[in-house]
Amino acid sequence: MGERKTFPVPAVARTISGRRKEAARDWMAPDAGPREVQLRFVTELSFDEYRKQRGWEAATSSRCPLCEAGSCHFHRLGTYMRKVPAVAWVARYYCPESHTTFGLLPDFYASRMPGTLDMIEEAATKAESAPSVEMVADALRPADAPDAVTLGAAPRSSGSGCGCSSRARSSRRSRG
Ligand SMILES: [Zn+2]
Repeated sequence: MGERKTFPVPAVARTISGRRKEAARDWMAPDAGPREVQLRFVTELSFDEYRKQRGWEAATSSRCPLCEAGSCHFHRLGTYMRKVPAVAWVARYYCPESHTTFGLLPDFYASRMPGTLDMIEEAATKAESAPSVEMVADALRPADAPDAVTLGAAPRSSGSGCGCSSRARSSRRSRG
């Protein structure tokens, strides 16, 4: 209730621990290629200011968070795109020794999910006060939004013919 700073998702998602294997499993797929880690880019800029000032160009990291200083070839590796709430870029670094890519994620972004922390906070606040999930969804993403998935559209995928059960049936048939 009103404890805005303790909202758990961004806090947990932003925890970076290269040494803890338990944490590492969250962002490492087995046998995947390079690992990806989000680092915090401390900034006072708002999302709009960051876009206008091309904040990703000013976002720098002096050393690899995983290796001893100077012991690896940590270097800048361009940027990657975030699409929500509007297209912007995030500075990226790479450590070839640890096969790890680092994104310098500005403070206003949510880590590991689209959008900004403000958007998530708004959603959480609405969810707390709304009588139903449907009403929250309507408030956050009205059905007339261009990318909205409405209840009217949903039954096509969740209706009578569920792909899971028909696959299960056919596999039973093929075994018997
Ligand atoms: Zn390194």
